Amino acid sequence: MIKLKTLEDLRLEDATVLCRVDFNVPLDGDSIRDDTRIRAALPTIQALREGGARIVLMSHLGRPKGQRVPSLSLLPAAARLAELVDAEVVFAHDTVGDGVAELVRELPEGGILVLENLRFDPREKAGDDEFSKALASLGTCFVNDAFGALHRAHASITGAAAHLPSAAGLLVQAEVEALGKLVSRPERPFGAILGGAKVSDKMGVIDALSKKVDHLFIGGAMAYTFLASRGEDVGSSRIESDKLELADELLALCEERGVKVHLPVDHVVADRFAEDAEPSTHDHIPEGTMGLDIGPKTVEAWTAVMATCQTLFWNGPLGVFEWDAFSGGTRSIAEAMASSQAWTVVGGGDSAAAVAAFGLSDRMDHVSTGGGASLEFLEKGDLVGLAPLKRK
Ligand code: ADP
Ligand code: MG
Repeated sequence: MIKLKTLEDLRLEDATVLCRVDFNVPLDGDSIRDDTRIRAALPTIQALREGGARIVLMSHLGRPKGQRVPSLSLLPAAARLAELVDAEVVFAHDTVGDGVAELVRELPEGGILVLENLRFDPREKAGDDEFSKALASLGTCFVNDAFGALHRAHASITGAAAHLPSAAGLLVQAEVEALGKLVSRPERPFGAILGGAKVSDKMGVIDALSKKVDHLFIGGAMAYTFLASRGEDVGSSRIESDKLELADELLALCEERGVKVHLPVDHVVADRFAEDAEPSTHDHIPEGTMGLDIGPKTVEAWTAVMATCQTLFWNGPLGVFEWDAFSGGTRSIAEAMASSQAWTVVGGGDSAAAVAAFGLSDRMDHVSTGGGASLEFLEKGDLVGLAPLKRK
């Protein structure tokens, strides 16, 4: 198990804490569509305030490619944070420099400053050391609570931490504990449900999970590549034809490792990829149609096996859950997870959004805020951003 330095390892009184958070929230114009990630950072922010620290928050938002893109400013996130903590939040229109340092000096005890989007500066993604030092100079210690970005060797993740006494925030601690349990001591039987858009995104995870799980359930668009690799007719389903061989190899690997693979046995299909397409259910995908969700027989078969599991991990929607007619499979599996007595973990951006949309988040043991980071953690058992936060 990874042992992390925590807030208790830092002296917070009179400290200025440079805190990396993940405020990479989905936007609609300049309003925030979903503030889950801001809320996820609140326990750490409150703990720092209660400890008497001044807080300098930094995050990236979207992909501005090293340039100042006004529509990707963190100002709306700072405004939302002010509402959530019910306190004044100062916003710096820059990330480093004299003006920012001045704003830091003016902070009262418990005061909060939010820096502008780190990725407006190309040096962030480059992991530039001058930029890392300039960020580090804003604080007396460093706290990383940006679980969703811990797989990146960027200036604000691995760089700044190298120049300051560092610790993990409460969210990072909780994520590492929950996901660490999956990696190192899951109670058996262990079932993993994988879905989503592309096999190519999930190859590494499938390989890693196949060393740990007893059951692997494969749904979503990805399932059709696996079915096709076994020679089944998949109609016009979205398959990755260059991944058929790889899919076949993975299935063979699972068999070698004694993992029972469960592929869909029926499908909700339509003749086109559209929200208003007419859905119908079949055991075999008719020619000219594409699979857009797992069918009810699949749900029944899978939930019966899931009920025997002591640990369940789920990543990737099992159908086009954004469209009502094709959301049934994802919803049923989410409900089975929610009512299961097993230890349940959900990872992945779209999967977490689906669980939230169904109102089931509170009924899971852990919903990871990280997409890529949680999958990489499952794959490697570690993340580059954790290195400076580890207890020696
Ligand atoms: P996560 O973010 O949870 O890791 P992914 O990003 O891998 O999940 O996949 C999510 C996307 O996969 C969703 O937008 C969903 O509509 C899509 N998807 C799932 N099943 C299908 C399918 N059968 N055909 C097309 N798209 C699908
Ligand atoms: Mg996704």
